[in-house]
Amino acid sequence: MKTVMPTQPANKRITNFNEVALGYTENQALTEAKRCLNCKNPLCKNGCPVDVLIPEFIMAVNDKDYTEAYKLITTTNALPQICGRVCPQENQCEKHCVLGIKGESVAIGRLERFVGDWYSENGKQIDISIPYKEKVAVVGSGPAGLSCAYDLAKAGYQVTIFEVLPLAGGVLSYGIPEFRLPKAIVKKEIATLEKLGVEFSFNTLIGRTLSIAELFKLGYRAVFIGSGAGLPNFLNIPKENLTGVYSANEFLTRVNLLNAQDDNYDTPIYIGNEVVVVGGGNVAMDAARVAKRLGSKVTVVYRRTMAELPARLEEVEHAQKEGVIFELLLNPIELIQDDKHQVKSMIVEIMELSDPDESGRRRPVGTKATKEINCDCVIVAIGTTPNPLLASTTENLEVGSKGTIIINEDNMMTSLENVYAGGDAVSGAATVILAMGAGKKASATIINSLKK
Ligand code: FAD
Ligand code: SF4
Repeated sequence: MKTVMPTQPANKRITNFNEVALGYTENQALTEAKRCLNCKNPLCKNGCPVDVLIPEFIMAVNDKDYTEAYKLITTTNALPQICGRVCPQENQCEKHCVLGIKGESVAIGRLERFVGDWYSENGKQIDISIPYKEKVAVVGSGPAGLSCAYDLAKAGYQVTIFEVLPLAGGVLSYGIPEFRLPKAIVKKEIATLEKLGVEFSFNTLIGRTLSIAELFKLGYRAVFIGSGAGLPNFLNIPKENLTGVYSANEFLTRVNLLNAQDDNYDTPIYIGNEVVVVGGGNVAMDAARVAKRLGSKVTVVYRRTMAELPARLEEVEHAQKEGVIFELLLNPIELIQDDKHQVKSMIVEIMELSDPDESGRRRPVGTKATKEINCDCVIVAIGTTPNPLLASTTENLEVGSKGTIIINEDNMMTSLENVYAGGDAVSGAATVILAMGAGKKASATIINSLKK
């Protein structure tokens, strides 16, 4: 059995935004590290998109040499404290751990978090001075851009990350809530990149402030696009423009970046007494749990059943324990307003499941029967697509039907010479570690091409 992760009790945590999972103590980490079999042919490594030296770092934990463990992890992973917290490990490294065949895999992510946190508290500052070679531009400071920049900087390239927002991190900063990923940790891990010499140009919208072509004119030899998939999908149902209806992106950004929940800030958010969150993914869970902490009754409306819910099981369990209600097999078809143009209820169609669709999940089919759910706030969390701006302002940058940038999977190059891309901008909304893996893969090709 995995060593249990201590958490804040549910009745306490819904009253604050502090971290829910508290992290292993040293003893808990040592107990868990002892479970690792240190296999000769470690399969867990196959599940990590950034090639973390998993058994090696766990053996260093066993030896209580946490500095060595940190060095081993950061040979390939720029953001261990972040990955240890938000990687969907059950589908990545831990899925391949042989202990998982008959019991529970080693808690690799939790150990990675322990090492990252330990080093952050006790480790020596990294002091590296690298002679700069050519300049490389990175568009977007999310996990894809950060991971690409990290490897390029370590190889001695001068990297500038161009970011439209006034702070770095992408979804790590404006999407994932504080109680899952404290922003102080995001800042600290990003500071490690700054120590490596990575520069940030904030409030710079590539495609408007500067074009990709202009970046080359400024002397950048290659460009990596990691601009994410930040454009929210909407339900496209009548009255979706009522007051009290948000995209999950807007709602989470207003809490994460603008401190909307804090009365000391002049940027409040309207949050009703009865909130309905539409969707079943991680973003829906985050929005529901934030709304709960703001004091509302929260109902998640999802058109399939619990078995098809795409969110991580751990997040669903946390949400349930915090009192979030799940109303399943329901599809919103219309919103109803009061006399102030404010949403007052949602009409939903009752669904049933048919055969599996191309995603392998059973397809929801309408029954024509409807019901009305009272609500004074609706948060729509049904996916995102890449913002079309970059593609529309960059001549000959090829994109697919859903706006995702088309690349050559072998070398991560786009339709433009020396312009590479990866992360959500290419795959559509995915995960932190897949974005990091893409950034890493692109950095390797960029380094190779610049060496020629
Ligand atoms: P992003 O993180 O979106 O970063 C892109 C950056 O580019 C942004 O900072 C944006 O402002 C900037 N940008 C965009 N266009 C331009 C431009 N033209 N010029 C300059 N800058 C630009 N994944 C997990 O693995 N685990 C989780 O628990 C998890 N939870 C999530 C919770 C929420 C609420 C959300 C929204 C997503 C979550 N994800 C999670 C998904 C994960 O965060 C994303 O897959 C990941 O952040 C994608 O990384 P990226 O670097 O491709 O893009
Ligand atoms: Fe597992 Fe993620 Fe760490 Fe890789 S980065 S070892 S996938 S937790």
